[in-house]
Amino acid sequence: MIRFGYDRPSDVAEAVRDGNRQGVRFLAGGSNLVDLMKENVERPVRIVDINRLPLKSIEDRDGGLRIGALVTNTDCAWDPRVETRYPILSSAILAGASAQLRNVATMGGNLNQRTRCLYFYDNSTACNKREPGTGCSAIGGVNRINAILGASAACIATHPSDMCVGLAVLDAVVNVTGPLGDRAIPMADYHRLPGDDPARDNMLKPGELVTSIDLPDEDFSGHHTYLKLRDRLSYAFALVSVAVVMRIADGRIADARIALGGVAHKPWRSRSAETLLIGEAPSQSAFLATAHALLDGAEGQGSNDFKIGLARRAIVRACKQAAAGTPQSQVDKRIA
Ligand code: SF4
Repeated sequence: MIRFGYDRPSDVAEAVRDGNRQGVRFLAGGSNLVDLMKENVERPVRIVDINRLPLKSIEDRDGGLRIGALVTNTDCAWDPRVETRYPILSSAILAGASAQLRNVATMGGNLNQRTRCLYFYDNSTACNKREPGTGCSAIGGVNRINAILGASAACIATHPSDMCVGLAVLDAVVNVTGPLGDRAIPMADYHRLPGDDPARDNMLKPGELVTSIDLPDEDFSGHHTYLKLRDRLSYAFALVSVAVVMRIADGRIADARIALGGVAHKPWRSRSAETLLIGEAPSQSAFLATAHALLDGAEGQGSNDFKIGLARRAIVRACKQAAAGTPQSQVDKRIA
């Protein structure tokens, strides 16, 4: 049994004070943290339960939306403003987990969920992310779900979120507060690659708390899709996922953004690959060239070599769906 202290602050300033100590973890929906505690992966000295904080609203702001960190994934996905103006985010969220989990999982918690690398959850194995300096059992081990892009000799884990892949193509901004004040972190900079310090998943500083996520004033509602490929049709993490948004004018692509999930330690984007599509008419050859550019440097680890070809085909398919305005359904989950 893990013994830990427990605080339940009622305002953000109190939560930051409570959280600014060694060994503290913030608790929101608990859909990841509680699992990790049961597996003895996380052993917090103190839990700061933030569920009383006033971070549960979705507000119109500067032409876009500000989504509170404690808004549940369900409430965000089905908010009419999100569904209408940011359907890529609704679709990505609904591709994740199960309805029951989405009912408790929060936006802030989803951002900060940890890898599902099998060895990370197994205390009997070496894992640099769980215990720095012990090694990486996934390299040369069972690595079907691990990374093909941005990995290091210390860690080949992937970030498991679908929601974050949707946020990545929207150029969302994560607002945080902490002992040194408030700051805003662009989604592209929020998560990090493992390098030689895989224990750190993101750029949060000690004691910092996510308060909200801003969606810019954009409209990609006409051309978008979230395509998720996995080992079973629901309640499974992505082997490869692709979020695509486009603007098309006069039959040519005026703007395009593509992010990959399930392939790296963070949602994977390449501005130079996206730029290849600008001014092009939607076509198989244009999408294939972009897929090759987006996957430049991709490297398999043995059991996950198949992901490179799978990702290439998924990018082309997702781009076709987005360009045609026929987004992937997350209701029956069959590939359109
Ligand atoms: Fe641990 Fe990362 Fe290696 Fe998985 S890939 S065993 S999380 S160090």
